[in-house]
Amino acid sequence: MSKKKTENVSVFALGGVGEIGKNMYVVELDDDIFVIDAGLMFPGDEMLGIDIVIPDITYLKENKDRIRAIFITHGHEDHIGGLSYVLRDLKHVPVYGTKLTLGLIELKLKEAGLLKEVDLRLIDAKTKLTIADHFITFFRVNHSIPDCVGVCIQTSQGAIVHTGDFKFDYTPVDGKQSDFNKLAAIGQRGVLCLLSDSTNAERPGQTGSESLVGTELNDVIYQPKAASSSPRSLRTCTVYNKCSRQPRRTTVKWPSSAVAWSISLKWHRSSITFVSNRRHSSSFHK
Ligand SMILES: [Zn+2]
Repeated sequence: MSKKKTENVSVFALGGVGEIGKNMYVVELDDDIFVIDAGLMFPGDEMLGIDIVIPDITYLKENKDRIRAIFITHGHEDHIGGLSYVLRDLKHVPVYGTKLTLGLIELKLKEAGLLKEVDLRLIDAKTKLTIADHFITFFRVNHSIPDCVGVCIQTSQGAIVHTGDFKFDYTPVDGKQSDFNKLAAIGQRGVLCLLSDSTNAERPGQTGSESLVGTELNDVIYQPKAASSSPRSLRTCTVYNKCSRQPRRTTVKWPSSAVAWSISLKWHRSSITFVSNRRHSSSFHK
């Protein structure tokens, strides 16, 4: 925990509030700056000629010597897609992420020619860090991609808790539930600020489990000649698993060839065709 009892705390977003994409939060404790996520946003129809939209990091560039870490909650584009652009100006800042998240980031940095210049540090949901006298922990959350964490930055005035994207999934595909006990303990100790994913928060009811997606896909895949699914890795894995039991060809169309190739590493057992929206198109057969 921070030693001072009256540290100045600032929390603000450089993207991701009131919009879908370019998620980036900044937590400032006295002179120390922590960044959470560095996502991109896909351009709307009115943005002709624009490939991607990234957060405005002018403030970070002007204060780059005070940035202590970038924490990445999970590997979706709207949380990692801006990282290779942000790091061009902030190469000295260590980037913390879980195994899958760092794997996806590595591929992006390799494409950008930055991989050898960036300090990537592996964490998991049990990692505890002390950075510049500030105590930081993580907790596992469920989402539509594996290996997601929330971030808890402790201050003397209570915790600053960033959930990342999450849902409470009691039957997750990978069998690893959110850290409910850890969340309860954080709440009991006192929370100064909760930064929570709010997608669909105004809709009554509860978001269904990812494992239900597989059941519904059975009907979709086994009947028509072709089907498509949203670009979420757990769902894409589910689609592939279903298709692999049928004489079907699986085609992955993705805005980033890096993501497609990372999936290919996991799916090397069969013949998969990857089609990227960018100039790279890849086929992977084995
Ligand atoms: Zn997400």
